[in-house]
Amino acid sequence: MHALEQHAKELFKKDLANLSDAETYKVLLDYVQEQMINSPVNQGKKKLYYISAEFLVGKLLTTNLINLGLYDEVSQVLEANGKSLHDVEKAETEPSLGNGGLGRLAACFLDSIASLGINGDGIGLNYHFGLFRQVFRDNQQASVPDEWLNHPNWLVKTETSYEIPFRHFNFKSSLYEIEIPGFEQKAHNRLRLFDLESVTSDIIEADSINFDKMNIPQNLTLFLYPDDSDYVGNLLRIYQQYFMVSNAAQLIIEEAKAKGSDLHDLYDYAVVQINDTHPAFIIPEFVRLLTTYHGFEFKEALAVIEKTVAFTNHTILAEALEKWPMAYIDEVVPEIAKIIRQLDEEIRSRYPDKEAVQIIDQDDRAHMAHIAIHFSFSTNGVAKLHTEILKNSELKPFYELYPDKFNNKTNGISFRRWIMAANPELTQLLDEKIGQDWHKDADLTAFEKEIDQADSLKRLQEIKHHNKLQLQEYLSDQQGVQLHDNAIIDVQIKRLHEYKRQQMLALYIIHKYLDIKAGNLPSTPITILFGGKAAPAYTIAQDIIHLILCLSELIAKDPEVSPYLQVIMVENYNVTSAEKLITAADISEQISLASKEASGTGNMKFMLNGALTICTLDGANVEIAERVGEDNIYIFGQDSETIVKLYETGDYHRHLADYYHRERIKPLVDFIVSDELLALGQHDRLYRLHEDIKYKDWFMALIDLEEFIDVKEKVYADYEDQESWTKKALINIAQAGYFSSDRTIQDYNQDIWKI
Ligand SMILES: *Cc1c(COP(=O)(O)O)cnc(C)c1O
Repeated sequence: MHALEQHAKELFKKDLANLSDAETYKVLLDYVQEQMINSPVNQGKKKLYYISAEFLVGKLLTTNLINLGLYDEVSQVLEANGKSLHDVEKAETEPSLGNGGLGRLAACFLDSIASLGINGDGIGLNYHFGLFRQVFRDNQQASVPDEWLNHPNWLVKTETSYEIPFRHFNFKSSLYEIEIPGFEQKAHNRLRLFDLESVTSDIIEADSINFDKMNIPQNLTLFLYPDDSDYVGNLLRIYQQYFMVSNAAQLIIEEAKAKGSDLHDLYDYAVVQINDTHPAFIIPEFVRLLTTYHGFEFKEALAVIEKTVAFTNHTILAEALEKWPMAYIDEVVPEIAKIIRQLDEEIRSRYPDKEAVQIIDQDDRAHMAHIAIHFSFSTNGVAKLHTEILKNSELKPFYELYPDKFNNKTNGISFRRWIMAANPELTQLLDEKIGQDWHKDADLTAFEKEIDQADSLKRLQEIKHHNKLQLQEYLSDQQGVQLHDNAIIDVQIKRLHEYKRQQMLALYIIHKYLDIKAGNLPSTPITILFGGKAAPAYTIAQDIIHLILCLSELIAKDPEVSPYLQVIMVENYNVTSAEKLITAADISEQISLASKEASGTGNMKFMLNGALTICTLDGANVEIAERVGEDNIYIFGQDSETIVKLYETGDYHRHLADYYHRERIKPLVDFIVSDELLALGQHDRLYRLHEDIKYKDWFMALIDLEEFIDVKEKVYADYEDQESWTKKALINIAQAGYFSSDRTIQDYNQDIWKI
């Protein structure tokens, strides 16, 4: 009897063959968990601590089975018992511990760190409801709690606990862990998530994500990114951040001391990578711990911290660069406020005439990125273009002070998840054609030789078709929508934000709708899919979702148009739906306003799965284009230099009316408030969005719209030549190896961590 069958008997007193899929999932969870807990944890003098407010890990069963080398064996045992892994996986609930690209990056990194055998853990918070679950009601987004913790999950409770001192509270934390096995590695790492036992869902109002924001003992780890549009919401974010980093710092010091560090050599035992500025309070917290409990002088502590901490910048959007009023920090943790004032004095004495690099500004706000850059040894951007923009404009004064600290680490994605688990058919084809070395060393270039092999091209087409059928099944199960057969699958999935320009694709849809109404019928039906959540306080993003949902309904109900065009907004976009959408996609929409998307990682997932990219030269799109060559990608729009200048001069926004009045643009924008749409939607939302695009358009949707329409028509026309299209897709797959997060992590380790 296989151990799995044994587990079934022990857990449910039944034969494996007689279990439901949900019960089978529990058996598998139990079995895999046991294998991991009985394997050793990575050891070694120096250790990486990757601290992040988010870890968007996705379902873990399949990737854990792959990494532990159990995938084939378990699939066979399940099959012998009349079950399939595909069905059992449906019973798994995706952890709600992340929001978007930043959290997904952290999850890919954990996989690569473990797979490269690097001694390194993730540290974060165990949000009970994480990011909200998105549901659509009346063509609008509603947000409800995501109850992932009420389902069987991978968390293991530990005995570890620290005391966390706030002004009004003294909390004792609990530590939960998720084991992170590497691909074909003996030892594993851990994702370590801190929590507070007094936190309870009792304070959440029915059918909403509203709760008493002042009740810190009961709300501290309830939600990821609680609404911060008011004072108490801001305080809660500071409570969360400090809770995360105080726990992290205490754990790091404890582990280093246990290995023999006297803390003056902490950097020989620990390297702390902070993922964006959310964990930046760890710098003053280290100062507090070292000076209060370990006999350090202030400057002595700084000297050690500056050699231990490294910082990753993820954005140049001004509103996303955290600045906390000192009064808020003082209200939450006065000792940390005091230390930040000392850090500010330190920088004022080091650089007296450089206002741009000071920590506390004239409005008495602490700039978290400034703290992170001054008191760390490395600042990295996440794609070549992004790092250049940091050095030459956004963070120029810092680059002038510390040229050696700045470096680029172009993001990557875990191939175990984004091809081996998500696309087993394509994995099989690659294995047949180029062997399996790429599972460990993600070089796929040998696949390019298949470009003249008719059977390989045919296989690629069959795989895409198969994945479209899987997506059809998924959407029908999840949302009750029926995906057209044999349509071009054109996908934009990512957080809703004006800079990502979902509104530009919506305007294109209006163009296409009107064009079809005028009798210009596409040769192949087109299905455009969106997925993405909007922050509940981000009104215009909610309005864009509303427009998309109204367009979807309008088109579905129009018999003249619906056979040729379909628009679907996928509810509650997450890792699970990403896996289905990306593997089925023909077209990857990466249409952000140039200079605004730091890297993007969705772009890499699509490329790896043989979708062709339509993009601006932004983020890592630039590096994708470099690799595949201009014949195998569709580039349009103004470049980042032009856009940066237009913001400086104000020229675009001054001339917005000229763009709006263009013959090809005005009818599209005005259609937002047409009778047809007003009949389906909310007047206030549609009018507000119309006004916003007409009079404000801060992220310049109209600047690239005409070019976008032209390039989309070309893409759809090119799709008709399936042989040539599939060759392009093949080159995209073959060139995707560079975007493995194993490469990214090797770069981090070589240049920054040195473990
Ligand atoms: C990859 C991924 C993202 C990031 O997508 P971008 O297009 O790079 O913004 C966000 N959410 C999920 C669920 C993802 O898998």
